[in-house]
Amino acid sequence: MAYTLTFWGTRGSIPTPGPRTARYGGNTACIGVSGPGRRLLILDAGSGLRPLGHELMARRDGPLSADILLSHTHWDHIQGLPFFKPLSAPGNSVCIYGAAQEGVPLEKILRRQMDPMVFPVPLTAVAAALRVTEIEEGEFPIADFRVRAFRLRHPGTTYGYRLAPATGGREIAYVTDNELGDGGSYPVGDGWRAALVTFLGETDTLIHDAMYSEHMIQVRRGWGHSTPRQAVELAAEAGCRRLVLFHHEPEHDDDAIDRLLDQTRAFARQVAPGLEVDAAAEGLELAL
Ligand SMILES: [Zn+2]
Ligand SMILES: [Zn+2]
Repeated sequence: MAYTLTFWGTRGSIPTPGPRTARYGGNTACIGVSGPGRRLLILDAGSGLRPLGHELMARRDGPLSADILLSHTHWDHIQGLPFFKPLSAPGNSVCIYGAAQEGVPLEKILRRQMDPMVFPVPLTAVAAALRVTEIEEGEFPIADFRVRAFRLRHPGTTYGYRLAPATGGREIAYVTDNELGDGGSYPVGDGWRAALVTFLGETDTLIHDAMYSEHMIQVRRGWGHSTPRQAVELAAEAGCRRLVLFHHEPEHDDDAIDRLLDQTRAFARQVAPGLEVDAAAEGLELAL
């Protein structure tokens, strides 16, 4: 099955609009995954979800169906939801999948960011049919894909996902907000790294957290993120064909990301010859 990935938001933590981030983009995490079926699969609901929603409404030729798969519920992964235009149209149907956090149901967390104290329209007032489904580690079907979820090293319950087209084809993995270094303390077992490599084994395209430069990670161990070099080492170990650097640091403007990408490609040529390395940019489309 052929399908397309479209990057609508590539930034981590907070939107960074402006001329200095125009090429790689200022919207937070959101990727559209469109296959031959009518249901669109969306990875994360950062502020990039807003322009994606506008595009869907402009192109629609009938009711829309979308599945949104959340890595976790930190702001930069859910803040686009209140501005997702398809939610405001009757006849549309939207399913949101993600983990509960610390015993708090996912639906309750999503309602909280639209509480009248902080937002004018409550989640319960949306016109579309909305379903919220909690997931755990393991395998389940969504839209045209078989999805596998794997617990990451990041504060809160955060999942990485491997997507396999139900009818066969190239597989992708979306692994953001993940600390590959030895900082932090997370409820994962001793064999976590080996299990992650097995989970990712032979994935065609790995989209991975590459937030911090080598300099930054020195003072941000334990914050739940990785460096581009760490992502290269993981992609090489797992035998991936392509690595896409994702969740760009808000302090990095386009020129800084250019430099990081150049350095990362040079590193990859030494340790992982043949690995294609790209940096996620708003508007980038990858055909699989
Ligand atoms: Zn994040
Ligand atoms: Zn996070």
